[in-house]
Amino acid sequence: MPSASRRRETSRPEREESTVVTHPFLDLAPLSAARFASIEDRVARLLGTEQDVVIMQGEALLPLEGAIRAAAGPGTTALNVITGPYGQTFGNWLRDCGATVYDLSVPYHTAVTADQVRAVFAKHPEIDFVSLVHAEAATGNTNPVAEIGEVVREQGALFYLDAVAAIGAEPVLPDAWGVDLCVIGAQKAMGGPAGVSAVSVSERAWARMAANPHAPRRSYLSLLDWKERWIDGGRTALLHAPAQLEMLALEACVERIEADGLETVMARHRKAAAAARAGVRALGGGLEPYVREDAAAAPVATTLRAPEGIAASDLVARALETDAGLPLAAGGGALAKEMIRVNHYGQDATREVVEASLTALGTALAEYGATPDVESARRAVAEAWQK
Ligand SMILES: *Cc1c(COP(=O)(O)O)cnc(C)c1O
Repeated sequence: MPSASRRRETSRPEREESTVVTHPFLDLAPLSAARFASIEDRVARLLGTEQDVVIMQGEALLPLEGAIRAAAGPGTTALNVITGPYGQTFGNWLRDCGATVYDLSVPYHTAVTADQVRAVFAKHPEIDFVSLVHAEAATGNTNPVAEIGEVVREQGALFYLDAVAAIGAEPVLPDAWGVDLCVIGAQKAMGGPAGVSAVSVSERAWARMAANPHAPRRSYLSLLDWKERWIDGGRTALLHAPAQLEMLALEACVERIEADGLETVMARHRKAAAAARAGVRALGGGLEPYVREDAAAAPVATTLRAPEGIAASDLVARALETDAGLPLAAGGGALAKEMIRVNHYGQDATREVVEASLTALGTALAEYGATPDVESARRAVAEAWQK
């Protein structure tokens, strides 16, 4: 501790040596192992899983990468489903691990089907690992995980799922679906912190990792470290000081979901997506849902296709001029030209936010000379919300 500054303080008689300005984020007591374990148990209940749940001390990319590097190696043959940018990333990690990778890409305006997955297995029966994104906030689609899980189980492959954009917005049931590695984060529909995340791990997945000489060990990426030094030790001693502020925020956010009821929280997201899709169809003006089938549309966020000749990023910038707080964004990378994202998740999964978002987009469209029907859009949003 800087004793010099302490001396400076004591030299000022009007200020007590013990005076410290308090702040809700500061001077937190260390998080105990028992509290950490109880937060893991709460997350496990949220997932309805009997599997081990490890809370990782980083954003969801940490367990997403850690799980691939632990479970995959040069002997792995992977089927990697690409329905958005995260699938691309997983394929890169898998190749980096030395795995043989078969990518199954589907257009971002749709979802993958269990039959498409089955067809890849028929061609390459040696596949022993499947990576899939449940819902993609970045592209607005969601995949039929239960049906795909059946196919994966029939083949005996390990099933890895990114449910970051699904949890809180739609059911995530790793045990019922046979998911071996299910990663979640709290920053989307749960309305929680981004700095910690969780992964449920099946016995099969632990065994695969233990047998993998390339799995990270003694590393921040290592899931096996948590297995051996935390879980197998009866969860009494933490590996290092946890991110206590984020852990407390995660605990508070799971507590709030428990109090509201997970079904209520999911219903809000489902209604927000239905209202956004109905609203934009009524709005017209050249704007339309990006994901064509309702069943393939993610409850967490609705993506829209910009009209011909209008760049999505420009339209969003104009819409945000009316209200900078709206959860609107252009698609990432090359999608910035054609895709608009309405991120109606967490506290933004409300009728008001959906209505205001479409109103702002309608106002912006009118500035381009289009003729959107904002009143019809508002009515459609209200009607869809009642359903
Ligand atoms: C949001 C999201 C994540 C987390 O990544 P960020 O870029 O940090 O938000 C991971 N996977 C999916 C599918 C997501 O939608």
